[in-house]
Amino acid sequence: MPPKSGDIVISDAEIAQLKESAIFAEKDRTHFSVRFLTIGGMMTPEKLRDIAAFAERFGNGTVHLTTRQGAEIPHVPYAKLAALRKALETSPLKPARSGRCVRSITACPGTYCKFSDIDTQQLTADLFEQFGDRNNLPHKFKIAVCGCSHCCSKPQENDLGVMGEGKNYIIFVGGMAGKTPRWGDRFPFVIRDKTVLFRLVDATIQWYTKHGNEKERFGTTIERVGLSQFVAEMMQIIESSKL
Ligand code: SF4
Repeated sequence: MPPKSGDIVISDAEIAQLKESAIFAEKDRTHFSVRFLTIGGMMTPEKLRDIAAFAERFGNGTVHLTTRQGAEIPHVPYAKLAALRKALETSPLKPARSGRCVRSITACPGTYCKFSDIDTQQLTADLFEQFGDRNNLPHKFKIAVCGCSHCCSKPQENDLGVMGEGKNYIIFVGGMAGKTPRWGDRFPFVIRDKTVLFRLVDATIQWYTKHGNEKERFGTTIERVGLSQFVAEMMQIIESSKL
């Protein structure tokens, strides 16, 4: 919808700045969608109450649930953004991750699903605690966790996917959706220990930061540099950690 006469039209620079705080300009450039962080798709009643209240107070009374398990309030007029941000200061809601960084981590409900081999929600919370502040990557970096080979959270469509299998972890690397989707490569070694898993995730993010070109997704970096080189370097790191 084009801007109407009298609407405030925002500069590209300000729109880019707002995007860093997970506030996304809509088509008319005068209304914004405000997205909140979820980890593993979990919410508390308190957060849900705030989302509902803010949607009615600042948006158009609707809430959109994103494909990555986030929640966003659409159609917030620019003039109400400051008041919404003020209200968020006393809310448990946090802005979603946005830009060239480790994004919100998605997960299936494997903690209580009868098929699950691992506690997906705890693992996801721990992964986010450890890696959720990684910024300045070549591009976005998406992580998904699932509890079994049903792969409900689609780990193969993420830059890094973790799947429970027995007491072990299966890793997928370089997956992505979008215009040029890519199915993640299965890391050719089973990870048997959570400490090793975290070492591998850390090393993977570092490898991507070192080898990735600007705006290049991890899967493209793997294809350009070579999966065998990536695996060899990861194995060296895992073995040198003597875990
Ligand atoms: S991936 Fe497996 S554990 Fe997770 S929700 Fe689906 S069936 Fe359950």
